[in-house]
Amino acid sequence: MGAGWQRCCCCRTLYPEPGSTNQSSDRKAMKQIIHRRTDCRACASEDLELVFALKPTPIGDDYVSQDRLDEIQPSYPIDLFMCKQCGLAQITDIIDPDVLYGNYIYVTQSSFGLNTHFQAYAENVVQRCKVAPGSLVMDLGSNDGTLLRSFKGLGMKVLGVEFAAHIAEQATASGIETIGKFFERDLATQIVASHGHSRIVTANNVFANIDDLRSWVDGINVLLAADGVFIFESYYLADLIDNMVFDFIYHEHLSSFSVKPMQALFASVGLELTAIERVATKGGSLRYFVQRPSGPMQKDGSVEKLLAEEESKGIYRKETYDTYTAKIEGLKQQTLQFLKQAKKENKTVAGFGASITGTTLIYHFEMGEYIDYLVDDNQAKQGRYSPGWHLPVLPSSAIYERKPDYVLVLAWRFAETFMQKHQEYLDQGGCFVVPLPEFKIIKK
Ligand SMILES: [Zn+2]
Repeated sequence: MGAGWQRCCCCRTLYPEPGSTNQSSDRKAMKQIIHRRTDCRACASEDLELVFALKPTPIGDDYVSQDRLDEIQPSYPIDLFMCKQCGLAQITDIIDPDVLYGNYIYVTQSSFGLNTHFQAYAENVVQRCKVAPGSLVMDLGSNDGTLLRSFKGLGMKVLGVEFAAHIAEQATASGIETIGKFFERDLATQIVASHGHSRIVTANNVFANIDDLRSWVDGINVLLAADGVFIFESYYLADLIDNMVFDFIYHEHLSSFSVKPMQALFASVGLELTAIERVATKGGSLRYFVQRPSGPMQKDGSVEKLLAEEESKGIYRKETYDTYTAKIEGLKQQTLQFLKQAKKENKTVAGFGASITGTTLIYHFEMGEYIDYLVDDNQAKQGRYSPGWHLPVLPSSAIYERKPDYVLVLAWRFAETFMQKHQEYLDQGGCFVVPLPEFKIIKK
């Protein structure tokens, strides 16, 4: 957070400090950017409990170009709350989607490895749900249409919904019909009138980003044919705890899903959570299959199995999060101690990974001031500056040119791959520092 900002006493939104150089018009604008909900987005209960307090962050993926370097990027809360009624883990501070996704540059095909993942996904769905060629398959949050292209290749009719209008236009131009609107109940009614009911509706890594979950679930209920199946994939709360991937909490991820609240949410509109598969992406995800009670899929016991696991792990109990918070605090102190010592010795520190998770990590660990620059091979990030701290992003070749004393591996889930690729840096006397899931220092 830059100087000149203060936190509101009731909702903790950031405002310009009185007498600071920020104008009152900024203050008005700030109020409209963020709002806090006081009820659960799944069951509307107001019995929400703070289970994991995180440091506020700027918009995590808003890596700025040079002409925005003077801009203060305020931080907003990302505290994790749990609904004591249904068990949905959620953040309650919601940034206006127009602001949050204003600089949205993510296009599926640019993300390495996803094409193969989606091809296997489409084949799995067609087989498991016994989908006949010519059936309508819809994808919500369809991006550039990569998943639908796989379904189309399997002989299905396809339709995408993508709220980023420019991406929707590109997808349509490339042969995947895509509606450039935000999905909600009324749009579902219009789609049924124009295209009929859907045999399959998918949503991948977007469902957790939706504030009005109930409007989505109503809309899905409208879209589905009598033998329709809704399939969505999202990172899993239990894995977030087990695998220490707390850096998956950021403003876009409004909910961290788990089985119990999802089952209740769909049951509230008469749909049934029938089966679940584990998926290795995103630090541990689940693929949920939802249908009408008379639907085509057989129950396989996977839902009950996971429900029992969730209970035994205690993922709906506050104490579990107290332990988690303490463990993460311990890792933070270890990392900070190391970085402070490095700073004292005038060592240079490069951070590997200019990603959205890196923003949560840098802010929660309060280590922005100890990092000199970031390196990342994603060209879309190079030449930009990190959210808030404005650390410059360089290609990873910079670690050979600038020879930092330490490379702090912010993208720690990819630590093994990164370190293998850069053995030469170690050979030249470099040192990797990995903060999670255990603090590690790696040198020759
Ligand atoms: Zn709830």
